[in-house]
Amino acid sequence: MILYHPRLATELARFGIDLPLRDDRSDQVFALLKEQFPSLSPFSLESLISISREDIARVHDESFLENWFSEKGFLEETLKAYDCQKNLSTQEAPLEELRESILRQVSATYTSLEMALDSGFCFYLGGGMHHARRSFGSGFCPLNDIVIAIRKAQASGAIRKALVIDIDAHHGDGTAEVTLRDHSITTLSIHMAKGWPFDSELPLVSSDIDLPIEIGQEATYLKRLGDALSSIENCDFDCVVVVAGADPHERDELKSSEGLLLTKEQMLARDMLVYKWCRDQKIPQLWLMAGGYGKEAPSIYAQFILKILHLMG
Ligand SMILES: [Zn+2]
Repeated sequence: MILYHPRLATELARFGIDLPLRDDRSDQVFALLKEQFPSLSPFSLESLISISREDIARVHDESFLENWFSEKGFLEETLKAYDCQKNLSTQEAPLEELRESILRQVSATYTSLEMALDSGFCFYLGGGMHHARRSFGSGFCPLNDIVIAIRKAQASGAIRKALVIDIDAHHGDGTAEVTLRDHSITTLSIHMAKGWPFDSELPLVSSDIDLPIEIGQEATYLKRLGDALSSIENCDFDCVVVVAGADPHERDELKSSEGLLLTKEQMLARDMLVYKWCRDQKIPQLWLMAGGYGKEAPSIYAQFILKILHLMG
């Protein structure tokens, strides 16, 4: 029900990529869970279901894939996806290891989706790369693991229709773009009204349901999210993927998420609202970490997961 392994961290610093994303945030969440549930153990990496290039090609275009799987092209795509201005001057490890690490993480997202379909609920302590678009990575998101996992599950016949509920502070623009005109995947995003995407040249793409929250409108957040979920007709989804960023929290340390400042209590209420809606609709739910920056982020994820673990006894 919880998918975690220390080797699923990206360890970006080893590749010379300096980001405010704490590489150890999954470890910290897991440690907080273990304090109350000592029997929890890391997932066995041998049991991950591998993602093939064909799986990725259901989401990303061929010229991007050719680049991504070549040595020179991968460096280019990496600099773009992680917003690095310069070369990776402090790089200690070969970039192929980063490629393998990203593929392992996408495999973990897919494996978590299978676990959610089996048991009704899974939280993967990773994943949620919602800014990756069809032909390039963006906003720290090299590949769109969310839609790769959904389309792989569709191709296997395990699911037909999916709903993505994106509650990260930033708009789920990549997911919206890669699922445009795909009626088998419905997207809902609640996010800061302004501040993303950074790049004004990037074409804006709307989700099926977009709920932009203006600065100072935090008090309306839970009602708007609840109303939007209630208004969804034909809830015949075979799964929900929740892109559960912790960056709407008021103490998140990423500058670009300052447009949304929810309290720790509001964050838990947000998560429980989504959890209960899925549970009441009897739809299996997969939760992914997405964005969450700085020293408080682990406690935001942990407060929700602990609540669910206690509920499930
Ligand atoms: Zn974010």
